[in-house]
Amino acid sequence: MDKVLSWPEIASLQQVTGQMVLKNAVRTVLASLRKNLADDEKYELSTQYITQLIQQQIATDETPSLRRVINGSGVVVHTNLGRSPLADAAKAAILDTAWGYSNLEFDLERGERGERYVHADRLLCELTGAEAALVVNNNASAVMLALSCIASGREVIVSRGELVEIGGSFRIPDVMRQSGATLIEAGTTNRTHPKDYINAITEQTALLLKVHTSNFAVVGFTAEVGTEEMARIGKKSGIPVMVDAGSGCLVDLSRYGISGEATVQQYLQAGADIVTFSGDKLLGGPQSGLIVGRKHLIEKMKHHQLLRALRIDKLTLAALEATLRIYRDERKAVTEIPTLNMLTISQEQLSGKARSMMRRLKELLPTGFSLSLKDGFSSPGGGSFPLLKLPTFVIEVAIEGMTPNQMELLLRKTTPPVVGRLQKDRFMLDVRTLNNNDIPLLASALLQLTEKKV
Ligand SMILES: *Cc1c(COP(=O)(O)O)cnc(C)c1O
Repeated sequence: MDKVLSWPEIASLQQVTGQMVLKNAVRTVLASLRKNLADDEKYELSTQYITQLIQQQIATDETPSLRRVINGSGVVVHTNLGRSPLADAAKAAILDTAWGYSNLEFDLERGERGERYVHADRLLCELTGAEAALVVNNNASAVMLALSCIASGREVIVSRGELVEIGGSFRIPDVMRQSGATLIEAGTTNRTHPKDYINAITEQTALLLKVHTSNFAVVGFTAEVGTEEMARIGKKSGIPVMVDAGSGCLVDLSRYGISGEATVQQYLQAGADIVTFSGDKLLGGPQSGLIVGRKHLIEKMKHHQLLRALRIDKLTLAALEATLRIYRDERKAVTEIPTLNMLTISQEQLSGKARSMMRRLKELLPTGFSLSLKDGFSSPGGGSFPLLKLPTFVIEVAIEGMTPNQMELLLRKTTPPVVGRLQKDRFMLDVRTLNNNDIPLLASALLQLTEKKV
């Protein structure tokens, strides 16, 4: 190690990278060379070769771990790819807030300490018609806070058909246990009736909970109790009703041909006392958990110990407020919020987008790349509409001398990485989730494949 560090071409690198980065890179390269030698492989160990390996290692180490990715998968709210891309106004709000100090917890009118929660509360109430609102880190926190506050040490009734697991680590029975509430199951997996709730109510019941089944669907011989009916049952017994709406949509998507998702407003109008939902699923904002509903319940949550551990960060709050502001005009929401725009875009617009993307890619790529436009299907993702397939256009890409599998693998290593879709042994990119600004970067990533830069 000391010997390699003393080579002039290596020693000079320290000026640029600093000591720690250089030493780590040398250590990693030497360890890998030693291992390969132990495996009895023949290697040419010239100074020049080792220097080159160290430079490559430095470049690898200096690449940010979290980086931008081009989403050609066709999954709009892709949980593994950061869910919702933000609207321009939300990005600008983040930058503006990050730039300097802000009135995060300072009341500018009165010149005294204020509350961070006010920045999104009023908008949420205006948009949903709720009495009160509160925002936390994500919907999992929202559910946890609400349950801890309303039902700790008491019982919560949930339909058996709604005891879902979302994304591995959020399971309703586990969340319930964590919150200190006791889960009481009502009904069966496929059918739950009003009498199942009524019969499960005891002195100990603190809450009736409805959970959006999100990533799965119960089909066939099924029955579920709607929010309105649950609210009627709750009211009769003086028990509040809460809905974990999952995606939480503020716009009625049936107007755009996507039916089956109730809006947050509809849950509240149906009589839900509390509705919780995610900020980064169908809403199209940053990761956050939104709670709306009755003032006395939300006030209780605002004073709960747990809130401090779940509190929302100022950059998130900036993006959330900006996103919610766009919703004040629905026409703006469906054009300016990328997630909503990708979901509601008409076939005609999508076809125009596809043809213009094809034209630009063909201009940017040499022969040897074969591009063709085909029909396909995209999915909303994010646990919403699990059965829905949205008709779309895909760009099928083929490269001479490369299999679709090789292409898929190598494109994950380009700058920026590209995530596409392999289907029937073809590699394709879904136009719906591609952004117009992605096209030059996409062309450059594809060129890196043929230029052997990955
Ligand atoms: C997604 C989802 C959650 C978890 O929300 P996060 O914002 O990811 O914490 C909880 N409940 C339901 C029904 C969901 O769909």
